[in-house]
Amino acid sequence: MTDPAPESIGSHILREKVTIEKMISYYCKRKHKTSGAGLCEECTDLLAYAHGRLDNCRFGDEKPTCRNCPVHCYKPSMRDIIRNVMRFSGPRMMIRSPIEWIRHSLHEHSPGYTQKS
Ligand SMILES: [Zn+2]
Repeated sequence: MTDPAPESIGSHILREKVTIEKMISYYCKRKHKTSGAGLCEECTDLLAYAHGRLDNCRFGDEKPTCRNCPVHCYKPSMRDIIRNVMRFSGPRMMIRSPIEWIRHSLHEHSPGYTQKS
């Protein structure tokens, strides 16, 4: 009862959502020179789309990461964009153990990071 077991709250889907949000945010800041906590319009749309896809992901908790997912549920135009984002942000952000990184990011509530989705 003292151990809240974050895994039970943070499903794969939730973790993916956090990851994708971080990736898009990183990409937007670097590529689109967005400042502050917000994203540009394009990236806001992309994030909403990505989160929507995760909500509808047929794998649920069995889900592999989107990068390795056998089902390409993104529509082609969005797939191109998200691929760019992952290619850009992925290696830079996941150079260390992705699990550790994701755990860390889940527990970290840095100021300016918008928690509401
Ligand atoms: Zn952007």
